[in-house]
Amino acid sequence: MNILRVENLCKTYGNGGARVEALKNVSFSMQKGEFAAIIGESGSGKSTLLNCIGALDTPTSGKIYVDGQDLFSMKEEKRTIFRRRNIGFVFQSFHLVTELTVEQNIMFPLLLDYRRPKKEELEEILEELGLSDRRSHLPGQLSGGQQQRVAIGRALITKPRLILADEPTGNLDSENSQEVIGLLTQASRRYQQTILMITHNRNLTASVDRVMRVSDGILTDLGGNADEKLS
Ligand code: ADP
Ligand code: ADP
Repeated sequence: MNILRVENLCKTYGNGGARVEALKNVSFSMQKGEFAAIIGESGSGKSTLLNCIGALDTPTSGKIYVDGQDLFSMKEEKRTIFRRRNIGFVFQSFHLVTELTVEQNIMFPLLLDYRRPKKEELEEILEELGLSDRRSHLPGQLSGGQQQRVAIGRALITKPRLILADEPTGNLDSENSQEVIGLLTQASRRYQQTILMITHNRNLTASVDRVMRVSDGILTDLGGNADEKLS
């Protein structure tokens, strides 16, 4: 089953002389439980692609279906709720709320949705991420690796079908990077979540099911075992 389907996606920024075609007719699908990496040079369109799929940016043309739902045919209000329930985000710079504790940060998406956090689910996530003894800490009291684990917890708490990660290991050392990838892999297996991750780290592309490359707004699917083709 396709959790994500992108069809002929185009994104053009600006107008007149300063136009940038950031995405040129991008099409691909992802299945339930699949973990894919997007690679490509800086400025090639990776973040634009992820931001469109996450409805943080609006495509110029083309279609994006998440779990069969046409994301941009929804009214904005519905799209916001749909995104909150079905798409989890992990960013390079964590984006935690500095005034809230670890526990409160993780539960934040549920509160936005007026849903009561299930105690067992929170405990399970804290345990899985090795944050049980840090639950009352503020982000400023944590290392970068710990902060990213909190951000992953926040992405997982709603059990979204799709997780989008924009260079989640960009600010981490190699040990913490491997750990973050391990946690994402574990999550994708456990709940059959689909993960799409931008990375510059070639060491990490070996751990995913599939690699896609974006080059000057054009996406090429390198499939599995992409390391042999990347040289
Ligand atoms: P990457 O994530 O691969 O570094 P981006 O998706 O950030 O690439 O950028 C792709 C192209 O689109 C670049 O030329 C960038 O300058 C341009 N771009 C991205 N966002 C904007 C924006 N909000 N306004 C104008 N141009 C943008
Ligand atoms: P990344 O490290 O993901 O490549 P960038 O520093 O390229 O991030 O861009 C950060 C954000 O700034 C992007 O999400 C994009 O929306 C915006 N951006 C990038 N390029 C431009 C641009 N030329 N003009 C306006 N906004 C831009």
